Amino acid sequence: MSDTDGKKTLGLRGGSRPGNVKQSFSHGRTKNVVVETKRKRVVVPKPGAGKAGGAKSAAGGDPSRRPAGISDAEMDRRLRAVQAAKAREVEEAAQRAAEEQERAADRERRRAEIEAKEREEKEREEALKAKAEEEKRQREEAEAAAKRAASAPEPGAASPVNRAPAKPAAATPRKTDQDRDQRPARNKGRDDDGRRSGKLTLNQALRGGEGGRHRSMAAMKRKQERARQKAMGGNVEREKIVRNVNLPEAIVVSELANRMAERVGAVVKSLMQMGMMVTQNQTIDADTAELIIEEFGHNVVRVSDADVEDVITKVEEDSKDLQPRPPVITVMGHVDHGKTSLLDAIRNAKVVSGEAGGITQHIGAYQVKTEDGQLLTFLDTPGHAAFTSMRSRGAQVTDIVVLVVAADDAVMPQTIEAINHAKAAGVPMIVAINKIDRPDANPDKVRTDLLQHEVIVEKMSGEVQDVEVSAINGTGLDELLEAISLQSELLELKANPDRAAQGAVIEAKLDIGRGPVATVLVETGTLRQGDIFVVGEQWGKVRAMENDKGERVKEAGPSVPVEVLGLNGTPEAGDVLNVTETEAQAREIAEYRANAAKDKRAAAGAATTLEQLMANAKADETVSELPILLKADVQGSAEAIVQAMEKIGNDEVRVRVLHSGVGAITETDVGLAEASNAPIMGFNVRANASARNTANQKGVEIRYYSVIYDLVDDVKAAASGLLSAEIREKFIGYAEIKEVFKVTGVGKVAGCLVTEGIARRSAGVRLLRDNVVIHEGTLKTLKRFKDEVAEVQSGQECGMAFENYDDVRPKDVIEIFEREEVTRTLT
Ligand code: GDP
Repeated sequence: MSDTDGKKTLGLRGGSRPGNVKQSFSHGRTKNVVVETKRKRVVVPKPGAGKAGGAKSAAGGDPSRRPAGISDAEMDRRLRAVQAAKAREVEEAAQRAAEEQERAADRERRRAEIEAKEREEKEREEALKAKAEEEKRQREEAEAAAKRAASAPEPGAASPVNRAPAKPAAATPRKTDQDRDQRPARNKGRDDDGRRSGKLTLNQALRGGEGGRHRSMAAMKRKQERARQKAMGGNVEREKIVRNVNLPEAIVVSELANRMAERVGAVVKSLMQMGMMVTQNQTIDADTAELIIEEFGHNVVRVSDADVEDVITKVEEDSKDLQPRPPVITVMGHVDHGKTSLLDAIRNAKVVSGEAGGITQHIGAYQVKTEDGQLLTFLDTPGHAAFTSMRSRGAQVTDIVVLVVAADDAVMPQTIEAINHAKAAGVPMIVAINKIDRPDANPDKVRTDLLQHEVIVEKMSGEVQDVEVSAINGTGLDELLEAISLQSELLELKANPDRAAQGAVIEAKLDIGRGPVATVLVETGTLRQGDIFVVGEQWGKVRAMENDKGERVKEAGPSVPVEVLGLNGTPEAGDVLNVTETEAQAREIAEYRANAAKDKRAAAGAATTLEQLMANAKADETVSELPILLKADVQGSAEAIVQAMEKIGNDEVRVRVLHSGVGAITETDVGLAEASNAPIMGFNVRANASARNTANQKGVEIRYYSVIYDLVDDVKAAASGLLSAEIREKFIGYAEIKEVFKVTGVGKVAGCLVTEGIARRSAGVRLLRDNVVIHEGTLKTLKRFKDEVAEVQSGQECGMAFENYDDVRPKDVIEIFEREEVTRTLT
């Protein structure tokens, strides 16, 4: 540092030439700043050297072209450096040419090797060999590079010329400025080792210099890893397969392992490590299973419960797999028109004589052979309920409907209903005009009557075949079978017998000794002994099968009815049977369905509420029946209600009064209602205690009414699916009258014991005598001892008097109820 004018300047010591700069600021302030200009050190050259330099280099020696401030000594030094560089340059050019050649060859070799290496990478040894070679070459390269580094810098101009344009990165660090060029020259060694090592130039990569080596270490590691994995073969493949594991709400450990394609032992071990001591047959929840799946590196696909049904694949049948199958025929018609007689007549006529009398074991369906050898399958369950319930359960098994109309009776309500059923199901019809033997038979009236219902029979130039038959004397049976056979030909019914069977339950029962048995009509595929299946909420394994003649069979193809043994429970008519691959699948589906059904029941409250019936009916979307059971106080009201109920039916719903009677609702009534999924309507009657308990247990809904209009209205609303918010009565208590007192001024007061719930002054009351309502009204007084009270609890005695009603007797029951608004939802 040097002091100039007493001011310190920043700069290099000695070589500075200070100058002053006056700076002006606002408000007239000024400031003198001493500025140092940097001056290069001047080296005085030695006379001799100066001459030599001057002679040799015009650029360097010519003082006029000499950069300002360069001393002779400096100049001399530079000149010498230049000379030396020039000398080396010649020598280096040759060396470079040789190197370049060598590098080209090297590159070629390297490329070949890389290619070869890639080919050979399959085997680890060769990969390692390649590595060894590469390392050797890299060592050579490193040596060469070190040599180059030791040599003097190349003049800048030479770089772009001598080096291929493909290696510009290598050329860029070289500066044409000599002054700057010296620095890299001094740092060459360090430069190559460190600073440039991070940057990989194409050149470096190709010639395998230090930079390239750095990178190849990582690449090499990866390659080695790859080679190692490949050498290990199958293991690599296994590790690579990441499976999507379908995970239901709960899964059996072995099934989980199966789905992940992992060893069960490994899964169990893994669970144990998580602190869960389970065996392979135990079920774990989805959350635990998810952890396991993740641990094994697979993807979890959470499936909803309903997805378990996906195993039952709806296979699109290839037309070439399809083979003709017999038609399935259902006989429908009005009651007493001869459905049963006709079915029996066909069976008896077509079954080999001798067997005829012995057919005690027919199974709800049978097959007959026509004259021309065509097989026909008849469902032996006449009536619409069977047809509808089958359809409502997803089993549309019927191909042809035979509509039986008695020639002496013509078209009746259930005939129309049958027509509607068939039309709704899109099933073709054949009209069997029965009882043609009757003297008062008028088949043409039947034909014209049918016109009104858009059934135009062939005799009326329509499309629907009509046959005159007599179930009693067998007239026209062959013609009827022919007509069926013709119709089935038109339908071209086909099924694939070579697939997992699907069928529908026609009927099922719990047989003492044989366990649950189901008559199944195979729809497609072939059901074989030993097949595992799910049917509705049940599952099983076909232990044995019997055909319609009671013979043991090993298999049943499309349209063949068989009785199946080996179920774990009794399914319901209309349930669909599907053969599954594994027992686990069958069980899982059955369990899922059972739970879903249970949830549905629970959600709907009671098992047989109006709402649920209607919800079912709605889901069905076809004509359905709303069964009810009616108990009334007197025969007159029962009859009036039944008549009103019959009028309610429309195209979609028909109200069917299963049973109507007079008197209290009994346990028998509840049993019947439960079996038929019907609610009980009590008109001015009540259920007795045991019936009430059973109803609660079984979830049978009991509704009490005191106005016919209300009852009819409710049923109507239910039938049309328009159950609106309603006022529902809630029974809050019952009291039994022990004694009756006459109190002057008040009238008769009933001395009661509250037997159930509470008695509330403000609530509505009914007087029941033998479970029949004899009065409904409000309380005038509710007394506990001498005091007027608002409520009396169960087990306590109280005095009650009715408003405007006096006829109270000991042993009468007082029902205390409140009204609450219930919003009903049907969706
Ligand atoms: P379903 O209610 O439709 O099953 O009718 P049924 O088969 O039970 O028959 C009702 C009544 O009609 C029975 O008494 C039969 O004997 C009678 N019946 C059925 N078919 C004929 C027939 O072709 N001719 C005569 N005369 N009576 C018949």
